[in-house]
Amino acid sequence: MRKLRKVSRRGIFVFAALVFTALGTAFAADIPEDLKCMVCGKPALSDFAVDWNGGKVYLACPNCKASFAGDKKSYAPLANIQLIATRQAKQITCPLTGKKASAANTVTIKGIKVRFCCNNCKGKAASLKEKEQLQLVFSNEAFKKAYKVTAADTVE
Ligand SMILES: [Zn+2]
Ligand SMILES: [Zn+2]
Repeated sequence: MRKLRKVSRRGIFVFAALVFTALGTAFAADIPEDLKCMVCGKPALSDFAVDWNGGKVYLACPNCKASFAGDKKSYAPLANIQLIATRQAKQITCPLTGKKASAANTVTIKGIKVRFCCNNCKGKAASLKEKEQLQLVFSNEAFKKAYKVTAADTVE
């Protein structure tokens, strides 16, 4: 009787461990369903991850990985947007000045709500065309000023 009870307890423990492992795997590979490859625009896959600015960005296939590797500067703003969209990067300060960013001065660029420090910065960003906005706000220089990448510490 006693032995049986021990066995079943152990069984539950093993089962719990398996569930835990399965959950962990799911989280590690969890990228948003609508995340797009920044090279071709097709759905990004966790199989084609690339280390980027302290986090990971996701592409659609080996060809896109090669294209990205060959022209990182052009793809930088879109890659940085992926870090934000996948919540690996969090905004800390205004991307123009590095000063404290306020939710009262928000401009949505490529679906990302970007906070600026003041009305002038907000106005400047809002007045530009999207291509220029991307350079102004999500170039590596601006991104590193305004965003902190945290997910790399916790993922895997
Ligand atoms: Zn692609
Ligand atoms: Zn400002």
